[in-house]
Amino acid sequence: MKKIILHACCAPCASYPIIKLKEDGFEPVVFFYNPNIFPSKEYEIRRVELEKYCKKINVEYFEGNYEIKRFYEAIKGFENEPEKGKRCSICFNLRLDKTVKFAKSKEIKYFTTTLSVSPHKNSSQIFQEGSAIAQKYGVEFLEYNFKKQDGFKISRSIAKENNMYAQSYCGCEFSQA
Ligand code: SF4
Repeated sequence: MKKIILHACCAPCASYPIIKLKEDGFEPVVFFYNPNIFPSKEYEIRRVELEKYCKKINVEYFEGNYEIKRFYEAIKGFENEPEKGKRCSICFNLRLDKTVKFAKSKEIKYFTTTLSVSPHKNSSQIFQEGSAIAQKYGVEFLEYNFKKQDGFKISRSIAKENNMYAQSYCGCEFSQA
């Protein structure tokens, strides 16, 4: 089976993409890198929940550091953008850039992200960032639109079955409102 790095933002959003990738003949390796999440308590809840779930279903799990300062530096000047605006493009770019570097360090040539499972996110906006980064580093970004074929609904029902913590906002402090 071909390994693929699956950038994951949380356990509920990772649940369906893991199944889908396996169905498609991949062995997903989960990577949690989300310096956008605020506050740190929320970050920790999402991180722990995902790590626990990966252990439960026997999927390899790795994580990056909580570099919240990097997030604030990157989105400076775009704090008041609406969701799906420029701030979100920068946020996707930051997270996927780190994911590619991780994929390269593991010599894994494919990567994708759970971010597209959310109906609140524009998949083309995610794909644009993923593809640009893939080209820069010579790694392949697979444009999975995980919200298709009831992906979001399935992920929520797996979350419910597993008593997972499910957040009510995207992640950054600006999305809390
Ligand atoms: S709303 Fe979500 S995607 Fe957009 S900047 Fe905030 S955390 Fe990132």
